[in-house]
Amino acid sequence: MSKRMYTHNSDKKRHVSARQKQKILIRKMLFILCCVVVFLILYTIVKIVRVYSKPISIELKLDNAEISQGEALPAFKASAIYQGKKKDKVIDKAKDITVQDLLDELNSGKGYTLSCDADTSVDNTYPVKIMLDKSLKSKLEGDWGKKLNINISEGKLVVKNTQGIWDGDKFKLNDGSYLTNDFLTSRGKTYFFNEEGKKVTGDHQIGLKVCTFSKKGELVSKQDAVVQPDKPMIALTFDDGPGERTSELLDVLDKYNAHATFFMQGKNIPHYPDVIKKMKDTGNELGNHSYNHPELTKLSAADIQKQISDTNTALQEVCEEPATVLRPPYGSINDNVSANVGLPMILWTIDTLDWKTLDPQATFDTTIASATDGAIALMHDIHSTSVDAAIRIIPELTKQGYQLVTMSEMSAAKGIPMENGKTYRDDF
Ligand code: ZN
Repeated sequence: MSKRMYTHNSDKKRHVSARQKQKILIRKMLFILCCVVVFLILYTIVKIVRVYSKPISIELKLDNAEISQGEALPAFKASAIYQGKKKDKVIDKAKDITVQDLLDELNSGKGYTLSCDADTSVDNTYPVKIMLDKSLKSKLEGDWGKKLNINISEGKLVVKNTQGIWDGDKFKLNDGSYLTNDFLTSRGKTYFFNEEGKKVTGDHQIGLKVCTFSKKGELVSKQDAVVQPDKPMIALTFDDGPGERTSELLDVLDKYNAHATFFMQGKNIPHYPDVIKKMKDTGNELGNHSYNHPELTKLSAADIQKQISDTNTALQEVCEEPATVLRPPYGSINDNVSANVGLPMILWTIDTLDWKTLDPQATFDTTIASATDGAIALMHDIHSTSVDAAIRIIPELTKQGYQLVTMSEMSAAKGIPMENGKTYRDDF
């Protein structure tokens, strides 16, 4: 009996525990379901809150601009862009300013300043910066900050080289050819391109200097080199100056490691002390062309001497050196002149007639057509047209392999000493 009862009880117990297990399982499942639902609700709320509380983002963007070297800076303008749908949202309740109001203000150029530190004479790419005004900046850092932000996209200004464009290690000129045997100033650096048009590296004798170029081809330094007697040379000579553009001419000579002889009028010398110092310091020769350009053949011995010595005194006052050579005005020489000048007298073999034609092309053509070893070319640096011609003649003769030397350098290299009172023309 007791055994049966026991059996009965244990069946009942087993039955109960199965039902309880089922209940527990259902509860667990319900709990998990609740958790999932709660999670989904919370997730959705967070998403909605995020979307609604996300600050409005305005992009203040500058377009890239392009100019050529030497042109004026363009008028930069930034545009304010907003792609959202909350243009009517009030961002400043006190002043009733909406997003659209701010966009309008920015698009009319207010609320910021633009700056570009470009040197338009140097081809390069320069950043154009946007600076928000103080008041706008402080609002964005203050109350507006949570609702709004302004992302700035700064622009670029490209200053194009007027001569052409870089093409790897070469430089393509505007006419489609490549720059060869010539210097180029680009990105504020100086480069030299060989006969194949490639920029050079290492040491190279160019003109009267040995130039050292970095691995990138940038000119690092220059050192004096001697005139090579076995290579052709020409003496460029400039009379009547100095003039307004003599300094510019000196820069071109210096760039091409070339020298020239300047036969100056004494009366002009006090007006150009810095130009004459630069002339001397860059290796050019100081020449005497009388004080005020008389025909020396018509003067007395004393007056000839005065014309020469007054000019030399003027030179010594500005650069502590007298002239080493003379060109008598008009090339007029007689025995009286020879006996009284006290300097070697230099005439010319290439008469460019630059003073007469005032045509840079004619001056260039005459010089290039008559170029030969030992030639002496006559030009006048008081004429702007002659300076224009010389600026083209110097690279062209350099390209053709001529060394551009002073009269004294030519005399030394050729082994033909110059004597005072003697005349030199086609002696070299
Ligand atoms: Zn003259």
